[in-house]
Amino acid sequence: MEVSLSGQSPKLYDVIIIGGGPAGSSAAIYTARAGLKTLVLYRAESDGALGVTQKIENYPGVPGPISGYELLKIMREQAKSFGAEFVRGKVIATDLKGEIKRVYTIDGKTFEGKAIIVASGAMERKNKFKGEEEFLGRGVSYCGVCDAAFFKGQEVAVVGDDDYGVEEAEFIARFASKVYFLCPGSKIRAPEKVIEEFSKKENVEILYRHRVLEIVGDKVVKGVRVKDGNTKEEKLLNVEGVFIFLGGNKPSVDFLMGQVEMTEGDCIVVDEEMMTSVPGVFAAGDVLCNNIKQAVIAAADGCKAALAVDKYINKKKKITSQW
Ligand SMILES: Cc1cc2nc3c(=O)[nH]c(=O)nc-3n(C[C@H](O)[C@H](O)[C@H](O)COP(=O)(O)OP(=O)(O)OC[C@H]3O[C@@H](n4cnc5c(N)ncnc54)[C@H](O)[C@@H]3O)c2cc1C
Repeated sequence: MEVSLSGQSPKLYDVIIIGGGPAGSSAAIYTARAGLKTLVLYRAESDGALGVTQKIENYPGVPGPISGYELLKIMREQAKSFGAEFVRGKVIATDLKGEIKRVYTIDGKTFEGKAIIVASGAMERKNKFKGEEEFLGRGVSYCGVCDAAFFKGQEVAVVGDDDYGVEEAEFIARFASKVYFLCPGSKIRAPEKVIEEFSKKENVEILYRHRVLEIVGDKVVKGVRVKDGNTKEEKLLNVEGVFIFLGGNKPSVDFLMGQVEMTEGDCIVVDEEMMTSVPGVFAAGDVLCNNIKQAVIAAADGCKAALAVDKYINKKKKITSQW
């Protein structure tokens, strides 16, 4: 049995669901209710397209208006009530060969599953900042939990605009002497309470409408050049670390490392039972680039993928409905 970086033996699940949005949470309701040992991995509490949505009033059965995060909490609680486990952890790699699939998270953990449902949405960035790739691992990081301790007593910049960035920045602020939170827009997409608590931290300065122009340094990061959208001024922040947690609209599929068939735009290809080109690996929700991006459609995809997983694991001849 493989041992993870943390030294613990990986746990074996029937199904590992990557993503805790409506697709992943709805899949978890069905797989857990079918008695399958279910793990859901997600990046942050109110992350993902639904997690950052301020108001939703067209999800059937929930008249609203309700925040996307509140709606997600209801779905996740329902899945947990049937025994699904939810664990926070950004998936960075997978090994999908063979009957037992492996999933690796950024904090060094390994999980094993007989089946995988990819429900990681489509909020990945397309473009990198100037200097980002050059200084990756030399001051630029995408993981607070992994790298914050290296910046003890130092000044760093955190680039983000949602709950995921805030959660990471809060952790980084435990180590860094000062955290500049660079938000490109005029708002952070996170619950009010979360932003209020975050902005009270003494060593955190939130800079709204600040865009990164370039990450600069020699062998390691020495600063970040930013443009203040309020004054139109450009300035250099002398930081030794730059943590980046921004999203975009590309499918989040890097961790699949090309193991499943995808279209040119990185949309996962599935058959009518939501199975990818790799047996035992399924996909649901925005990661498929559905032409209609709606929570109810992602949730329905999740249901289909879950019932297909039940068929796959229990070697059923055909998909059976759940009553
Ligand atoms: C601003 C906005 C407003 C919207 N308004 C509405 C609306 O009013 N009504 C409606 O029906 N739909 C609305 N939508 C669309 C709807 O939110 C999406 O179609 C739906 O959330 C897609 O669900 P999903 O589960 O596929 O992905 P998401 O909701 O994006 O969830 C993705 C999940 O994957 C996780 N994840 C991503 N990468 C990783 C990784 N590497 N490791 C671990 N976890 C990962 C994230 O943490 C998240 O939990 C809106 C979308 C946006 C952006």
